Amino acid sequence: MPAATAVTAPRPRTSAPTPLGVRELLAQGRRTFSFEFFPPKTDAGERTLWAAIRRIEPFAPSFVSVTYGAGGSSRDRTVEVTKRIAAETTLRPVAHLTAVGHSVTELRHIIGQYADAGIRDVLALRGDPPGDPKGEWTPHPHGLTHAAELVTLIRQLGDFTVGVAAFPERHPRSPSWCEDITHFAAKCRAGADYAITQMFFHAEDYLRLRDRLASVGCLTPVIPEIMPATDFRQISRFAELSDARFPDALARRLEAAKDNPADGHRIGVAYATAMSERLLAEGAPGLHYITLNKSTATLEIHQNLNVSQTSATTTTE
Ligand code: FAD
Repeated sequence: MPAATAVTAPRPRTSAPTPLGVRELLAQGRRTFSFEFFPPKTDAGERTLWAAIRRIEPFAPSFVSVTYGAGGSSRDRTVEVTKRIAAETTLRPVAHLTAVGHSVTELRHIIGQYADAGIRDVLALRGDPPGDPKGEWTPHPHGLTHAAELVTLIRQLGDFTVGVAAFPERHPRSPSWCEDITHFAAKCRAGADYAITQMFFHAEDYLRLRDRLASVGCLTPVIPEIMPATDFRQISRFAELSDARFPDALARRLEAAKDNPADGHRIGVAYATAMSERLLAEGAPGLHYITLNKSTATLEIHQNLNVSQTSATTTTE
């Protein structure tokens, strides 16, 4: 764990304003800021997660999201953690949901469970083949083939706010940008309210994606996902997870700091802060921070930026 720079908790709010949903915030041109967690596997992991959630809660993010596991018990834990956030915190949870290994009947049941728990925000994803995320995608025989179909299903089942995935460096399985953008636009036509990107480390990739979407008339807000890279040893894991191009200069600096976690932490937070500043200056509608179930690095970036939901998005274009 890197040495922590002090993160100051904000003063408690004196009155509780009615929180706006993600759709309303974005429709009003307000910036969102949000944090992503994953379902822990162990009791110790559960404690780490809840410590991070409680530390982030006073900052009143626009939402927090919980990723959907590849299968079995991790999926039940996603549902449990998401419901617990809804029941026991002041946070607005967004439930990730994938089509992997599920029949439509099962997907309906999970969406119904969320609705029963008062959860109205779902991130609709196709998911990757279990075991080998880069393997051949085979849909469940009674399931869905693409995320656009899941958006349609969720929309049919109630008044949900639905997010989808976007890929600043193109989905690794898309044969061309043209097909990638066409299929992304289909998710928006199916009813997606917003998108969150895959992690990326070059602001230009996000800006080019936004231009490509604008060129086909797709103006759905796309929230950049921010992953603080604070440890040289993480880089190969990032490549496994995302195919994101990692900046050589940043890799060299992290390598030089590999025996000094505090330096690595400072380098990673500074890089992510600078990239986030650039994205916001270019009019990004918000920021979605990957926490890895810790809070220190992402809260430091957030505090460095001094982002407020009340600030309208601006663009330099
Ligand atoms: P889709 O939109 O269905 O796209 C998948 C591929 O199919 C793309 O190449 C697309 O161009 C193509 N395609 C789409 N429609 C068609 C069509 N009609 N005909 C032909 N080709 C088509 N995974 C998890 O398992 N759990 C998570 O919680 C999770 N959270 C994520 C959060 C974010 C912000 C992101 C960016 C990704 C997340 N993922 C998660 C990973 C995601 O599930 C994978 O990247 C998956 O490969 C793509 O999902 P998608 O929803 O974009 O799929």
